[in-house]
Amino acid sequence: MSVARQRLVVLGATGSIGVNTLDVVARHPERFEVLALSAQRKVDLLAEQCHQFFPRFAVVGSDAAADRLKGILRQTNTPTTVLVGVEALETIASLSEADTVMAAIVGAAGLRPTLAAARAGKKLLLANKEALVMAGPVFMEEVRLNNVMLLPIDSEHNAIYQSLPREHSSNLLDNGVRRILLTASGGPFREMPWEDLEAVTPDQACAHPNWVMGRKISVDSATMMNKGLEVIEAHWLFNAPGERIEVVIHPQSIIHSMVEYADGSVIAQLGNPDMRTPIAYALAYPERIEAGVEPLDLCRIGKLDFERPDLNRFPCLRLAFHALARGGNAPAVLNAANEVAVESFLEGRLSFTRIPAVIEHALSCVDWRDIATLNDVLEADAAGRDAARHLAASLPPRQ
Ligand code: NAD
Ligand code: MG
Repeated sequence: MSVARQRLVVLGATGSIGVNTLDVVARHPERFEVLALSAQRKVDLLAEQCHQFFPRFAVVGSDAAADRLKGILRQTNTPTTVLVGVEALETIASLSEADTVMAAIVGAAGLRPTLAAARAGKKLLLANKEALVMAGPVFMEEVRLNNVMLLPIDSEHNAIYQSLPREHSSNLLDNGVRRILLTASGGPFREMPWEDLEAVTPDQACAHPNWVMGRKISVDSATMMNKGLEVIEAHWLFNAPGERIEVVIHPQSIIHSMVEYADGSVIAQLGNPDMRTPIAYALAYPERIEAGVEPLDLCRIGKLDFERPDLNRFPCLRLAFHALARGGNAPAVLNAANEVAVESFLEGRLSFTRIPAVIEHALSCVDWRDIATLNDVLEADAAGRDAARHLAASLPPRQ
């Protein structure tokens, strides 16, 4: 008996998560059909993807990119319709024929299309953690109202999801959960002498010891803001208060996170650090499919280490816990200021060690507000960006 194929939209198809998603999809042509893809700038890669998967739509960020893409598609006889801009992203995220949306745009830019997918009640594979961090209450309300199946792609949250009871209620305590243990590699600078951090370059920050990722999340991993965003992400996904989320440094990135229960049991999910595992898990859920991932060789790895994070070395993690405790617009301000600071660092305009100062400044000068609507979220995002830009512009660049 042939089963209908799952029709998939990939937002951010040319990024690290997007490419890994299409790698898994290509292994299972009988299961998945690609309906639409999006990319901001990498037109050549997007054109190759269109030629391989024949999506009905491809969305790019500018008219110039669209013209170039149309030219290449014409030459290769690829019948994909090219669309432009944020509204087109919302359109493909909510196509009536689509079953599943992979939300893999980086940063706040992914918020509108990811929300559109939730509003349309799609099965939603969430990699774009910034969307959830900035818009937590608004996003989760759409998920609830539209009965969305929300599957986390972030390896830690995917591990937690796998370690919770399958039919878990939204109240962790009802499931006997005592704590969520969120593992973190500690990034490339875990052991670097403090005095040397001032001079680190974007390329050093992006050289992650275990994972190959986009540049923004790589810098977030180096400052540990990535773990901070993940604490807030876990709060919303699993309805977990900050006090029940503990960050544990685990440099080998083999245990992807754990759930501790009232009886003392700790359930963990392990695997090689390869994003195709959580992606394949979410794509095929509740089934299991081949993902192309090397089998885990624990004897070769030999030992697994754990330590507590140093909040003095990684103030961003402290700031994220603080923003979660403050609630309201604070997480959106934190996220916006972090995006500005990371961009300034990547462009050589801000030193690595000033990133937390920029975020702290934004959190202290934007007034606290509650978040009830998308407009509230966008206002908080704009205010956080303004405050961060102001301070970042006045600070000296990397020496
Ligand atoms: P990336 O930089 O490699 O790719 C980002 C994608 O988003 C690209 O396809 C790009 O074209 C698109 N994009 C960028 N700016 C855009 C804009 N303004 N409008 C529309 N599209 C835009 O990033 P990534 O590493 O794949 O990360 C994507 C998301 O997944 C992030 O939110 C990240 O935190 C999350 N994530 C990534 C990993 C990983 O291993 N890479 C792991 C966990 C979570
Ligand atoms: Mg992660």
